[in-house]
Amino acid sequence: MEIYLDHAASTPILPSVKNKLNEVLDIYANPSSLHMEGIKAARIIEEARIEISKKLNCLPEELYFTSGATMSNNQAIRGFIKRHSDCAVITSSIEHDDIYLMLEDYSYNLKHVIPCNKDGKLDLPCLKECLDELQSKERTVLVSIQWVNNEVGVIQDMDAICNLINSYPDVYIHTDATQAIPYMPIDVSKYKIDMLSCSAQKIGGIKGTGLLYVRKDVKLSPIVYGDQGLIGGTENVPGIACIGEAFKCLDYSFNNELKINRDYLCHKLRNYGKLVGSLDNRIPNNLNMIFDNVNGEELQAFMSEFGIYVSTGSACSSHTDKPSRTLLSMGYTPEQANSSIRFSLGKGLTKEDLDYVSIITTNGIDALKKK
Ligand code: PMP
Repeated sequence: MEIYLDHAASTPILPSVKNKLNEVLDIYANPSSLHMEGIKAARIIEEARIEISKKLNCLPEELYFTSGATMSNNQAIRGFIKRHSDCAVITSSIEHDDIYLMLEDYSYNLKHVIPCNKDGKLDLPCLKECLDELQSKERTVLVSIQWVNNEVGVIQDMDAICNLINSYPDVYIHTDATQAIPYMPIDVSKYKIDMLSCSAQKIGGIKGTGLLYVRKDVKLSPIVYGDQGLIGGTENVPGIACIGEAFKCLDYSFNNELKINRDYLCHKLRNYGKLVGSLDNRIPNNLNMIFDNVNGEELQAFMSEFGIYVSTGSACSSHTDKPSRTLLSMGYTPEQANSSIRFSLGKGLTKEDLDYVSIITTNGIDALKKK
């Protein structure tokens, strides 16, 4: 029996995305070429752009294709900093490593990190204080806040965050919506978002393709130079066709099923571990639990032996032995952070599957628990 509970790391490729891939693989011309075959390739990119723009409620020309959310985040933030020499960046303590590590390259004077509470919710009064201070210094500000956290699934109150940010002149908002896109419709115009990043592999697309939305009057400098405008290099036509198809297939009708199954698993494990954060304001498929006195990596390896695939913290940082920065900033100790397991469920799980997951998890805990 194999049960994949690591959808926050990567999702299976959707059948219609596979069909799309097969359909476009033979269109090999360079989309910048002006002959008929080149025009065909360029048309595939245009079709994907139109499909995605309908979902995000933006203009097709406001979308840029990247190699993934990592590159989207880097382009958005580094490109903004390069273009606005007086700028300051505000971000949260629980952003993905690509943003956190990128900002480590910049001086203390440029960045401001807003803490979050024990449930992972951003400290809004602290954000306001920071905005007031920067406003008095007349700096251009970019606020980059992730919509949903990849480890604990907390959903930020983007309505309140955007309302606050939009009440200041010369303050821009970028959001890493990688983990939000699969579970909720996002209308960038409604929220007046300036930039948004996401990744194909979280929505049934193929790896190595991402998206960056940039509102048309936001100015960015390139970080990868070439002759294709903001993002240099020949476009990944098959990947782009696939992210367009994956966006077209976005389907939130499974949210309720995911939530029921997630809550069931949480209930089964409640006597063995502590839920990280709260079940409110959380995407429906995420369960993150701390099993005290059990090493998370050992438990994950134990479960893998029995065909259950989960992650410790975020899959992206699971090759480092550092405790999760997200859990530490939510107030957990390094020992607790190293004892956490992230279950990220997919659709179609049965009660028997979840009972099996619960049995293997608790067997693992019993076998590995340090006395
Ligand atoms: N941001 C978040 C919130 C993510 O979950 C991920 C993927 N784990 C990324 C950025 C990076 O995405 P990619 O691997 O497509 O570059």
